[in-house]
Amino acid sequence: MKTILITGASRGIGAATALLASEHGFKVAVNYNNNRDAAESIVEKIRLNGGQAKAFQADVTKEEEIKRLFEQVDTDLGNLTSLVNNVGVLERQSLMENISKERLQRIFEANTLSTFLCCKEAIQRMSIKYGGVGGTIVNVSSIASRTGAPFEYIDYALSKGAIDSLTIGLSKEVANEGIRVNAVRPAFIFTDIHADGGEPNRIERIKETIPLKRGGLSSEVAEAILWLASDKSSYSTGIFLDVTGGR
Ligand code: NAP
Repeated sequence: MKTILITGASRGIGAATALLASEHGFKVAVNYNNNRDAAESIVEKIRLNGGQAKAFQADVTKEEEIKRLFEQVDTDLGNLTSLVNNVGVLERQSLMENISKERLQRIFEANTLSTFLCCKEAIQRMSIKYGGVGGTIVNVSSIASRTGAPFEYIDYALSKGAIDSLTIGLSKEVANEGIRVNAVRPAFIFTDIHADGGEPNRIERIKETIPLKRGGLSSEVAEAILWLASDKSSYSTGIFLDVTGGR
């Protein structure tokens, strides 16, 4: 049985991905930072459906917590075969000139540094040269890497652009080690992240500009992530799947 670790899986896209991964036959490591009850309820749902899952607390902005997270997953769920770098945060909508250096650092630590460091841990386990059997990494980027998120959060867009560059470079570095690295770029998905940006009804404001004229569901993004994490995408690496309603 394959093991998948999903960072930030206590709610939103990560939680939907955890549920779908279990349906695909993965043992699921549900990472969370603050919301233990929500993470445990995802684990409970998976177990009630006959799957295997465990919740793991770790703040993925901290390297020592990332190392502990991966070691605990090794011990509790066995060899890691897939990693989904899903954690991503944004702060209140702001013009670029009002974004502080400290905020830029926070956004990069949560979105980009965490993805970089989790990839390192995964490679050390999956690479054939280290005795692994290969695997898949799926990075959750954003349409913001293409649009730059003007008037909202350019800092967040930069952090996602860096994830796209990482996906391209790393996919080529580890292809010969049996590891495929791909990314999903969502947009306008109904989750609580928009409230964190200061506009809970953001999708309502924007939806007429989306060709499909609606926001997306976390489960629709999860389908794209699972395709890239599974053998069904076996000839794809270094690619981006946009889940954006046509924008
Ligand atoms: P969300 O609902 O805000 O959920 C964020 C998750 O990340 C929570 O489970 C949270 O856990 C966890 N988290 C945050 N900081 C963490 C940390 N330092 N360590 C560990 N876990 C942490 O987000 P979402 O909307 O599902 O977004 C998921 C991904 O999709 C993100 O990368 C986001 O940038 C991307 N995305 C989303 C949209 C959208 O429209 N929703 C669009 C484009 C891209 P706790 O609550 O337990 O702390």
